[in-house]
Amino acid sequence: MPTCQLPVKYLLFDLDRTLWDFDGNADCTFRSMFVEFELEKLCHVDYNVFHERYKAINDTLWEAYRNGILTKELLSLKRFSLTLASFGCDADSPAIVALSNKLSDYYVLKGPLQTGLMPGARELLEWLDKQRDRYCMAVITNGFSEAQLPKMKTAGIDRYFDYFLLSEDLGYMKPDRRFFEEALKKMHAQPSECFVVGDDYKVDIVGAMNAGIKQVWYNLSGSPLPQGLAVPTYEIRELQELITILDK
Ligand SMILES: [Mg+2]
Repeated sequence: MPTCQLPVKYLLFDLDRTLWDFDGNADCTFRSMFVEFELEKLCHVDYNVFHERYKAINDTLWEAYRNGILTKELLSLKRFSLTLASFGCDADSPAIVALSNKLSDYYVLKGPLQTGLMPGARELLEWLDKQRDRYCMAVITNGFSEAQLPKMKTAGIDRYFDYFLLSEDLGYMKPDRRFFEEALKKMHAQPSECFVVGDDYKVDIVGAMNAGIKQVWYNLSGSPLPQGLAVPTYEIRELQELITILDK
């Protein structure tokens, strides 16, 4: 009698803040950058004020990048030049443009050297790795290609994945439904066989929902879902909870 093969499940993981501890790692990189480039002297603020301002500006610019309004090059530069400008620097002066370019390069090069993962991420990946015949593993990310792959390699998690599906290669960004359609095409998978696991409701969950894929919202902080928004297929507070979902 042939053994009955269980159907393969395709797991599509977001990277930043789902597996890779983006906030903790960015904090380490920013602290060293702040000291190395003497930003306290230039901006007359402490590290926390500087980083919080950067985050707000970066979030707004990322939204524009996702919507195709801003290029990657401008996003990389402006997130630093506008932060410096908000502390009184002249964003258009050659010195500030040059410094912004240096900060941008530093961040993209040094950021991926950090290795912090989200709680339980490695344990979950190890558990999945023991059943490689049951799970096809993919990373789905909007992040810059020159940062995302080194990040995974340095943190030692690239080996758990069969596919690295980057928006820059697929030609669309999450939450665009076409990102998910292209991703599934690459894996020769059907939506019914897939799960998208991600922390960002607007980007990961809405995108997967629109593509007809089951969604697992990794809601670490337990933020309530704003009224009127569709409930995801699953919601977890800890990554390990995914095991129970997959065992069903
Ligand atoms: Mg994320």
